Amino acid sequence: MAEGGAESETAGADLVLQGVTKRFASFLAVDDLDLEVPSGSFFALLGPSGCGKTTTLRMVAGLEEPTSGTILLGGEDISHLKPYRRPVNTVFQSYALFPHMTIFENVAFGLRRTGVKDVKAQVGEMLELVELAEYAARKPTQLSGGQQQRVALARALINRPKVLLLDEPLGALDLKLRRQMQIELKRIQTEVGITFVHVTHDQEEAMTMADTVAVMNGGLIEQMGAPMDLYEHPRTTFVANFLGQSNLIRGTVTGREGKEVDVDVEGTRLRAPAAGGQDSVGEVWLGIRPEKVFLAAAGTEDGARSNVLGGGVISDVSFIGVSTQYLARMPWGQELMVFEQNTGARQNFRVGDTVDLHWTPDHTFLLDASQDARAGVEREDAT
Ligand code: ATP
Repeated sequence: MAEGGAESETAGADLVLQGVTKRFASFLAVDDLDLEVPSGSFFALLGPSGCGKTTTLRMVAGLEEPTSGTILLGGEDISHLKPYRRPVNTVFQSYALFPHMTIFENVAFGLRRTGVKDVKAQVGEMLELVELAEYAARKPTQLSGGQQQRVALARALINRPKVLLLDEPLGALDLKLRRQMQIELKRIQTEVGITFVHVTHDQEEAMTMADTVAVMNGGLIEQMGAPMDLYEHPRTTFVANFLGQSNLIRGTVTGREGKEVDVDVEGTRLRAPAAGGQDSVGEVWLGIRPEKVFLAAAGTEDGARSNVLGGGVISDVSFIGVSTQYLARMPWGQELMVFEQNTGARQNFRVGDTVDLHWTPDHTFLLDASQDARAGVEREDAT
């Protein structure tokens, strides 16, 4: 077709969303979204139920029309193309395989539909890729859930889409299988080099697989970046709580010294890296991840290089195996979480013990105090 408008200035087939908005009657599901997914990357849209991630995916697939905004693929405007005209395939949570067909025929389906006669080599290659070559003659019901999902993947990839959309593809699998499939999916994506856009509410799943994670909340992207960067440097309370767990403590920035700021927490002076405009004096949420903190019996360890909060009283101990998770009630009433690795090198504590909480100033992050400290806490409450 001659349509397509301006020629691409973008190398490869980057997926670009510009000001994409979706309204359902008066409800704003996706709010003026700007997004760039580089060609060949593994991108995850992560967020709680109802945040708009599936709607975003459906707009890319052409299953939902944007209220406004533009979707470009490799520089071409695909916003109004029919779904089957888009070089995009989707893998859903329900595999939707054809039950009466063999695995071979299921995978061959897309090729046959476009009139390819000799499908054997390509189907064989795809079945190799998903490690199901020896199952070619079986019917879907003779495979496990994980295997069926791999067939669904092969069936989509054989069409060589420019972008593969994955809508909670592992949601129906049990935890162990899901972990295996996460590794598999990442391997397959690396091997085929096709752009994967993956929608999930499972933060671990997003972080395990994706090069870039966009955390969505209420139709907006709260923060986007490499998993480690998001985890170590959350910029909102929602991201701090939704991606892993965080202790958020009320504090006041009192001044700056070089690359660090001083923060007063209930009369104790703590330090934090001065970052992103949070170096001005005033109220903040001071954040520290539970696994970054270690416990010491009150007054027993030197805290010259650390941040130290004293006067904690252990209120709960949960032995998890790899770690022990403590709750320490602080003098101002807040319970802080501390996860200690079970290396055997550290002292174990019991409920009622008085402890100091130590951590490195570098691991501290500061957030705008006007935000709700509980945002993003109630995650995975829905299906
Ligand atoms: P989930 O993981 O539960 O699917 P999600 O983040 O993918 O959540 P969406 O499915 O994108 O969320 O939905 C975003 C919001 O838009 C929700 O509040 C949903 O109720 C609403 N919504 C989605 N589709 C429609 C529709 N066809 N009509 C009206 N409202 C809709």
